[in-house]
Amino acid sequence: MAHGKVFLVGTGPGDPSLLTLKAVEVLKDADVVVYDRLVPESILHLAPKDAEKIYVGKSSEKHQLSQEKINELLVDKAVDGKRVVRLKGGDPFVFGRGGEEAEALTDSKIAFEVVPGVTSAVAAPAYAGIPLTHRDYASSVAVVTGHQAADAESPIDWGRLAGSVDTIVVLMGVGSLESTATSLMEGGLSSDMPVAVIEWGTTEKQKTLIARLGTVAEEVKEKNVKPPAVIVIGEVVNLGGKLSWFKMDSR
Ligand code: SAH
Repeated sequence: MAHGKVFLVGTGPGDPSLLTLKAVEVLKDADVVVYDRLVPESILHLAPKDAEKIYVGKSSEKHQLSQEKINELLVDKAVDGKRVVRLKGGDPFVFGRGGEEAEALTDSKIAFEVVPGVTSAVAAPAYAGIPLTHRDYASSVAVVTGHQAADAESPIDWGRLAGSVDTIVVLMGVGSLESTATSLMEGGLSSDMPVAVIEWGTTEKQKTLIARLGTVAEEVKEKNVKPPAVIVIGEVVNLGGKLSWFKMDSR
């Protein structure tokens, strides 16, 4: 039997209408759907009723299935001749480990396609009225993880980021916010630098907390802010109040 194919598909940040047309197209033809925790339920319903749906529920704290097992699963289903749709929140190549899955597929000579998605790194700030760049305030952006693999080869150099990038977007950063903020201030950022923490961005559960770098970690604890959240650090956060447009934002 001919090998199937794997589609590494981004489902967008949460609002299901931010799904791409290409994602809808490949889902309609899926034999197998492999999905994560942050994939909205309604998107799963776009796959055929009889498609096999496999939850591999990854979150930063708990890995339901190891990455290695997920890679194997994708390869095995494709070897069985299936059209496999691998759904990931946001964009598959932005902290989605899509790169590792693409490597595993390449190593096993399985054909694949990547369907980019709207990343939460950009969309959650947008729904909070925060443009990541602006002619007057920011001409550079970095997207970084707050939850780095312990064995990462190049640990994040917060001091260098603080000195060279106007807007810093942190994903998976709620748990480590205190040490991130401290490192950024040691790197030269003012304790007055505005910070936005956007929980469940683009969904009806969206809540945006606006604070200052010096006190944000404390406020996040006090207000019980929980992942998933996107953290934005930079002058552009000041625009959030003025440009707020998403009526569901409830904080
Ligand atoms: N590939 C995804 C990111 C996966 S890492 C993307 O491109 O968006 C998971 C992290 O993404 C979460 O810890 C959180 O920081 C962020 N995230 C994903 N969806 C989010 C949402 N709706 N609101 C806020 N943060 C979100």
